[in-house]
Amino acid sequence: MQWTVRLEMTTSAGEVKSTELVTLSRPAIVGTLAEVGLVLAETKALLAKLQARMLCGQVAAYAAHHRVCATCGVLQPLKDRRTRRLQTLFGTVEVEAPRFKACRCRQPAPMAEVTVSPVCALLTARCTPELERVQAELGARTSFREAARILDTLLPASRANQESVRTRTHAVALRIEAADRQAAAEVTAVRDAPDKAAAADASRPVVMLDGAYIRAIPGHQVRNFEAICGKVEHDGHAPRRFALVRSVAEQPHALLRAALQDQGWREGDAVTAISDGDFALPALVRSATGGPVEAILDWFHLSMRVHHVEQVMRGLCAIEPPPLVLPDHARIDVERLRHLLWNGHHDKACEALGRITSEAKDAIVLNDPGIDAKARRLVARCAELRSYIESNKGALIDYGQRYRAGKPISTSRAEGTVNQLVNARMNKRRQMRWSPRGAHRVLQVRAALLDGRLGHQSIQLAA
Ligand SMILES: [Zn+2]
Repeated sequence: MQWTVRLEMTTSAGEVKSTELVTLSRPAIVGTLAEVGLVLAETKALLAKLQARMLCGQVAAYAAHHRVCATCGVLQPLKDRRTRRLQTLFGTVEVEAPRFKACRCRQPAPMAEVTVSPVCALLTARCTPELERVQAELGARTSFREAARILDTLLPASRANQESVRTRTHAVALRIEAADRQAAAEVTAVRDAPDKAAAADASRPVVMLDGAYIRAIPGHQVRNFEAICGKVEHDGHAPRRFALVRSVAEQPHALLRAALQDQGWREGDAVTAISDGDFALPALVRSATGGPVEAILDWFHLSMRVHHVEQVMRGLCAIEPPPLVLPDHARIDVERLRHLLWNGHHDKACEALGRITSEAKDAIVLNDPGIDAKARRLVARCAELRSYIESNKGALIDYGQRYRAGKPISTSRAEGTVNQLVNARMNKRRQMRWSPRGAHRVLQVRAALLDGRLGHQSIQLAA
């Protein structure tokens, strides 16, 4: 049995041209399952031929159209025939790129000769935007080597090695960053006064920030470097992710500012920032907005430190045989800690911590050495919690009230973003090491990919 695939082209003038693409043969009666239907190798060959014919036809028509002088309608003389190669998802195609002598009506001087090459003007890049986007998308999802292998397996795409996937991923990242910088630089309209009051009543954008550590390539001055990941959420908008390595980002605040603007934020609007007690994070939000920022300490990080105190206290109460003097008042104070902090009474929490510490110290003096180590650990944990509370005083709120109002109190969703952005591609299990620049760029593409921004017009690919 034999199949012939023929391609029929109809020009705009109605002229029909037919060419044979491939012929597929199989035994009249198939013997095995493998002989049923198309196979990958045939499909790749078919697609490559189809692409070449289609592309060459389009480019030839383009060149013919532009050979006619736009001013006087005369056919411009051919100077020479050259070729150009264009990489596509369906193979590298060599196209004819004829050069013409510009029409005399457009020559600046009778003796000067100007050459025009319409095809070179059309092919502004060495690859199609689609090939670049697919390579960047795969490169952001998996290792560059693996991405090249996947493309090579499934498509007749121009042979990609890991270097070309890396280059394209980086190129797309640079364009995403440039688009963000441009968006951030655009002066956003300040809301009108009545509108502003309405905006203050409405929910404000919430920025949730978290840091993640990435293993650095050998030879880098530090073993690990930090990436800042986060999510911007605002009612009525799809959440937007952002990530950056501060040391290599050209304008770190611009990336965050662009994300905020995308969420309907306008100059002067207040923003809420939830983070884990690293002062650099709310500071980044402040430099992005240049306006009021309500900083909130992440409840989860605070709660973990309360948990450490509770755990040591529980261990102390479980000692057998029970010590002579048990810090009973301290036990009650420990039980209240979580409640006090949840409801925004951090001063009372600090007072309670002071009482717990002094009672624990008494217990060390009054009891046998068996209790000593545990009581000392309690003192240390209390000191940790207290200094954490004091250094984050400005960012402690009535968590209960905010929680009951249905507003976020934790960066847990930002941590989810860290998992999606960093851990899935750069975690320790993958044994991968990164340069800060390489990581920063892959993060730009991953964030855009997860948000569904990668195909957007604002990110002009292969331009
Ligand atoms: Zn002319």
